[in-house]
Amino acid sequence: MRILITGGAGFLGSHLCDRLIEQGHEIICLDNFFTGRKVNVEHLIGNPRFELVRHDVIDHFKFEVDRIYNLACPASPPHYQYNPIKTMKTSVLGAINCLGLAKRVNARVFQASTSEVYGDPLVHPQTEGYWGHVNPIGLRSCYDEGKRCAETLFFDYHREHGVDIRVIRIFNTYGPRMLADDGRVVSNFIVQALQGKDITVYGEGSQTRSFCFVDDLVDGFMRFMEQEKTVGPMNLGNPGEFTMLQLAELVLKKVGGKSKITHKELPADDPKQRKPDITLARDILGWEPKVPLEEGIEKTIAYFRESLGLK
Ligand code: NAD
Ligand code: UDP
Repeated sequence: MRILITGGAGFLGSHLCDRLIEQGHEIICLDNFFTGRKVNVEHLIGNPRFELVRHDVIDHFKFEVDRIYNLACPASPPHYQYNPIKTMKTSVLGAINCLGLAKRVNARVFQASTSEVYGDPLVHPQTEGYWGHVNPIGLRSCYDEGKRCAETLFFDYHREHGVDIRVIRIFNTYGPRMLADDGRVVSNFIVQALQGKDITVYGEGSQTRSFCFVDDLVDGFMRFMEQEKTVGPMNLGNPGEFTMLQLAELVLKKVGGKSKITHKELPADDPKQRKPDITLARDILGWEPKVPLEEGIEKTIAYFRESLGLK
């Protein structure tokens, strides 16, 4: 198949490019390189089945494709809050452009939605039926509400125009090719520990997250895209739940060194807990994350050691 991946030079997108190329597909990777990098897909350049296009999803585009994975959007709080209006445009206009293209060329279109649609959840663990608890006017709203609006557009194009959609809600995912200065917790802690700096835990560190290794997530993406039973939304993530203090201690144990834990102010609207209910993914995809946190953290530490030249 010919497959368009928006945000294909980013963390998740570049791993998806690799897996789909391995399966023999043709890939068009569209990215504006805001948080993505050419180096993430450098090894694919020169492959006759791979094309890299510098383009912004908020501007119209046209490709003859069979599948569209819409991943374009900065995912870390510092990056999506850098230009919140642009973040909202990316989610909303990006979704409209992908859906319009899917309608025109009869392609199946996948939306990388997020656990952020649940906001600071009052239901735990989160099931797909939960409508969420989201602040519409806060610092995280450009991302949370942008992604919620994109979901609305996906379901309206599906109902109104019969567009073949797939909507996935991704919970925190980590692994090689995250940006060292991305601002997300796993990359922050690992890079701080490797550089012998203090580990910055925001607040008391009792807030929880569930961390999925990238290989597991991308496997779930491809299974979900090619199944016919549901258009979603479907949660994908690792149901293991850890406090940020536990994560900091694990990273310290694995890296060694002399870093200490320090506490910084908790960002506004920071969700207190997050854990996916993945019953639907288990039932429909037969999918289950395989990589335990310790193993995934070791692989991610190895990646940052090498990419930061600390070997
Ligand atoms: P990332 O920041 O590494 O990747 C996003 C990519 O989109 C980057 O390559 C960036 O340059 C590109 N991009 C941003 N704005 C664009 C625009 N206007 N036009 C074209 N390209 C643009 O983040 P990621 O972790 O790989 O996330 C990929 C997708 O998955 C995002 O949509 C994100 O919201 C979603 N997601 C990720 C996670 C996670 O934990 N990694 C969790 C929930 C949802
Ligand atoms: N966090 C932290 N130290 C950091 C970066 C993040 O304690 O250096 C916390 C953050 O406050 C949040 C959790 O880690 O409670 C996950 O943050 P991240 O930005 O990775 O993802 P999100 O909040 O979007 O789930």
